[in-house]
Amino acid sequence: MSLQLSAEQLQQIARQFGTPVYVYHAERIKEQYNRLLSAFDGVDAKFFYAAKALTNINVLKYILSIGCNIDCSSVNEVKLALKAGFEPQNILYTSNNIAFEEIEEAKNIGVHINIDSISNLIKFGKKFGHSYPVGVRLRPNIMAGGNLKISTGHANSKFGVPLENIKEILDVANETGLFIKTLHIHTGSEIKDVEVFAKGIEVLFEVSQHFPDLQVLDLGGGFKVPYMPGEEGTDIPLLGKKVKEEFDLFEKKHDRHLQVWFEPGKYIVSEAGYFITTVNVIKNAGNKIFAGVDSGLNHFIRPMFYGAYHEIDNISNLSGAKRAYNIVGNICETDTFAEDRQLPEIHEGDHLVFRNAGAYCFEMSSHYNSRFKPAEVMVKDGKTYLIRKRDELEDLLKGQIEAL
Ligand SMILES: *Cc1c(COP(=O)(O)O)cnc(C)c1O
Repeated sequence: MSLQLSAEQLQQIARQFGTPVYVYHAERIKEQYNRLLSAFDGVDAKFFYAAKALTNINVLKYILSIGCNIDCSSVNEVKLALKAGFEPQNILYTSNNIAFEEIEEAKNIGVHINIDSISNLIKFGKKFGHSYPVGVRLRPNIMAGGNLKISTGHANSKFGVPLENIKEILDVANETGLFIKTLHIHTGSEIKDVEVFAKGIEVLFEVSQHFPDLQVLDLGGGFKVPYMPGEEGTDIPLLGKKVKEEFDLFEKKHDRHLQVWFEPGKYIVSEAGYFITTVNVIKNAGNKIFAGVDSGLNHFIRPMFYGAYHEIDNISNLSGAKRAYNIVGNICETDTFAEDRQLPEIHEGDHLVFRNAGAYCFEMSSHYNSRFKPAEVMVKDGKTYLIRKRDELEDLLKGQIEAL
C-alpha cells in the first residue's frame, strides 16, 4: 500500500487555500524514491529526478533532501537546481536541439552533459577535446511509450543520434579527442514492459565495445505508474533484478565495470500530486450531464493533449449513488477532463480531485484565457505549506511593456 492524503485532508486544503489548487505529498515522493533504492540494491546505480515533471523550488529542495540527483532539460532548470542547493556533480543536463552556447554554459557550471546531435558533438570536441567528459544520447530505434507524443526512441524520432551513425560519433572522438563517458537513451514515457529496458541495455552493451572511455550507461526515465484503477506500472523490483543480472554478466564477460543511471520523472512525483477543483455548473444537456469545474486545459492539459486518463474523486460526496458525467473545464475550447465518468452524484460547489497530478500538470500550465495559474501546496510531516500563491492580475501583465 502507498501513502495517500485523505479526503478530509484535501477538503481542509481546499477550504484553506481555495481552488483550483495543486497539492503535493512529500512523503509519497520519498516512498517512490525508496522503492527505487531497494529494487536496485546491489547495483551501482544512480537516479536523477527529471525536473521537467515538476519544478517548484520546494519540490526540488525536497528531492535533494532525500538524496536523489537531478536531470535537467534546459540550462534554466540547471540554474533552478543550483538554487535548490544541488552540487554540479549531482546535476545532469540532457539537451535536445539546443544551441551550442547553452551546452557551453552548462559546461561552465560543471554539470554532467548529454549531447544529442553530431553537430554539437563536433563543436564540443573541437573546443574542449578530452578535457571534459560528455554523454552521447543515442536513438536506439525502439518503439515504446504510452503514446506517440511521448515515444522518443523510435526510428523516426527527432531525439538522439541514430544508432546507424555510431561510426560518425567515433570519427568525431578520433579527430577531436572527445571524452565519451556516458551513452544515454531515453526511449519514451510510460514504458510498462521491463523487456523494453532490457532491449535498450542490449543495444548499449553491443555498442559499448567501441567506446574505451565509457563509465556510465544512462537508460533515461519512462517508468510507468498506474493511472487507471487496476492498472499496473513498471515492475520496478523485476527491473532492478534484470539490470543487476545483465550488468553483472557484462562485467564478468568483458572485465569492465559500468555504472547505470536512470532519469525518472513521472515515477517520482506523479502519484504524490492531487489537483482540487470546484464544480461551478451542472448542466443537463440532452443525453449528457456536464460538470463544469473552475479549471481547464490551461491548468491541466494531459487529458486533452495526450488523451490521458486521470482518476477523479468527488470528495464532497464519496459514497453517493453513481451516474455518468462529462467533467469539463471553463476555457473557450472543448476541454474535457473525462467523458462518461461514473461518479457519486455531483452538486454545484462540490470538490473534484484529479489524481496523478504531480507530473507534467502544473508544469504545463499556462495563462490561456487570461486565467490565473493555480496555487500549489505541499504536505510534509502532516503540515501544510503554501508553496506558490495563486496568480493576481499583475502576473498576467508581468514582462509586458506598454510601449505604444
Ligand atoms: C522527460 C524525460 C525523462 C523523464 O521521463 P518520465 O517519463 O517522466 O520518467 C527522462 N529523461 C529525459 C531525457 C527526458 O526527456
